Amino acid sequence: MNTFQPDLIIEVTGACNRACAGCYAPNVVAKDASEVFEKRPELFLKSSALNNALSEITSSVGIAAIRGGEPTLHPEIANLLKNAATHAEHVFLETHGRWLMEENFVPYVELLNAVIDNGIIVKISFDKMHGLKADELQRIVHFLNWHDVDYRIAITEPTLADYMATRSLCSFVKDEKIIYQAKALSADELVKPTIGTINVRGELKATLTHKFNLTQELSVAYA
Ligand code: SF4
Repeated sequence: MNTFQPDLIIEVTGACNRACAGCYAPNVVAKDASEVFEKRPELFLKSSALNNALSEITSSVGIAAIRGGEPTLHPEIANLLKNAATHAEHVFLETHGRWLMEENFVPYVELLNAVIDNGIIVKISFDKMHGLKADELQRIVHFLNWHDVDYRIAITEPTLADYMATRSLCSFVKDEKIIYQAKALSADELVKPTIGTINVRGELKATLTHKFNLTQELSVAYA
């Protein structure tokens, strides 16, 4: 069974347009990302801050995971992916995947081109928490295959039995594309990147940002 161990996590935004129960990320929930960007720019990692943080890292980065919130809400996500790809052997874009459905896709053409041009691997969450339906995932997988984009389907469930149940819903995905992640029930169980985490302020930290160390400022829900 494939697992996932990033060397570096890059948190590009604290905003997300979903509100999954049990999410541990420091999300400001917003349907309109551009409005959040205008009012709360501190929730979005600046390209210059990312470059500064990356230049501090002296060890080689095998796997970098781009994460949010929902990273595709960042208006400069294409540029951030390009920068990350110059510092890491493999870059994974972690996403709930809805932007890859045909009816949502038009605003994301630049992002898809950046994914293709920089060999980014799209990592889509498919489990009870994220609520993506099997037929929706099937359409997304078809779309990615059509565009020759590499991808992984990340199933995060609390038990092996739950994993097996979710896995049975996406039997159209090959085993080599599946990642199993045990759902973290406490801060200690969250994935620990070997190098660290670059947060939205561009600071390199030992651990990722999660609700256990969330500041009051970031926890304000954006209606
Ligand atoms: S899509 Fe991911 S980041 Fe957004 S609310 Fe759900 S679990 Fe959290």
